[in-house]
Amino acid sequence: MPRRIIPVADARSLPPLTAGDSLRTPSGEVLDTLARPLKDLRISVTDRCNFRCVYCMPRAVFDKNYQFLPHAALLTLEEIERLARLFVAQGVTKIRLTGGEPLLRKNIEFLIERLAALRTPTGEPLDLTLTTNGSILARKARALRDAGLTRVTVSLDALDDALFRRMNDADFAVADVLDGIEAAQAVGLAPLKLNMVVKRGTNDGEIVPMARHFRGSGVTLRFIEYMDVGTSNGWNMAEVMPSAEVVARIAEHFPLVPLEAHSAAETAQRWGYADDAGEIGVISSVTRAFCGNCTRARLSTEGKVYLCLFASMGYDLRALVRNGTSDETISAAIAQIWSGRADRYSQLRGSDAAPAVSDDHRIEMSYIGG
Ligand code: SAM
Ligand code: SF4
Ligand code: SF4
Repeated sequence: MPRRIIPVADARSLPPLTAGDSLRTPSGEVLDTLARPLKDLRISVTDRCNFRCVYCMPRAVFDKNYQFLPHAALLTLEEIERLARLFVAQGVTKIRLTGGEPLLRKNIEFLIERLAALRTPTGEPLDLTLTTNGSILARKARALRDAGLTRVTVSLDALDDALFRRMNDADFAVADVLDGIEAAQAVGLAPLKLNMVVKRGTNDGEIVPMARHFRGSGVTLRFIEYMDVGTSNGWNMAEVMPSAEVVARIAEHFPLVPLEAHSAAETAQRWGYADDAGEIGVISSVTRAFCGNCTRARLSTEGKVYLCLFASMGYDLRALVRNGTSDETISAAIAQIWSGRADRYSQLRGSDAAPAVSDDHRIEMSYIGG
């Protein structure tokens, strides 16, 4: 029996489209109800993936009967480019392509070329990047770079091959990802960031080996706390390893010094190796919420805008794109959607004020892209 666990039919109604009454910074960026400007856009280009990471797309749910989005539901690459351009007009300066596995989307290079040509209202190119599981990066790195991509983030949860194969549950080898990392560095997709989701009792034994392997390599390793996104991964607080513990474990072997954040909106806290062998980052989404500085909107594969990773419903921009709505009106819609934003799930997690989201309505990480 085909299943979807994404609320496809549920979309928030768009706010009334009256241009010009959104709160803005002096430089024109649109602000939400908590005075957070719209700066970043994550675009999910596919809900499909060749991995079945246990914490993201567990095979028991994402099996052969799972109903992924039909082709006609996906925004076309031209539609993505148009919406991205309208987000940029409202203040977005950074775009990250994600998925599912974004390198599985056909002609992704074409989209990158189009996005790389966009300019902010002050004429700057965008900070354009992509998050990938790295499995086919070795083949694609040069084409991605040639299309205009400048950086890439790769995910890798273990160096131990048997453990990595168990975690991706699709029999991909560590060597495939390491080849991808090497190829990306060789063509200049740098500085390369590497994401490791830490699950206590599963791969916490890999923290120090990963740190040892990547120190001094130019790769910034970032440890991500296992999050309660979606409903399919059976999340449990006991499996979350707080970042403070990760830092302490590494510091036992390699002394660390705290580093300044690059910007207020940076999600990772930075730590440098005291012997100058580079840096690591920790993303403490569970134990140290960063909602106060969250400037990120998310555009799903089928064209819905979500204002938070933990949102239950998105605003359907695809309907506007496909019914002949003008750029000006869609742009105004984007501004008004952002103006009404009050989301701060991680800050409220576990408190009485936390929004009640029914299990049927929680979006999955593979749908929204992290
Ligand atoms: N497939 C690509 C990849 O794995 O890099 C891009 C999409 S993936 C959803 C984006 C990021 O989300 C990955 O770094 C992944 O490890 C992370 N992620 C997925 N599920 C997570 C969870 N439950 N908690 C924390 N991070 C998670
Ligand atoms: Fe695929 Fe990325 Fe999710 Fe793993 S984390 S299942 S690679 S989308
Ligand atoms: Fe942003 Fe939502 Fe995450 Fe808070 S919980 S940091 S608002 S995405």
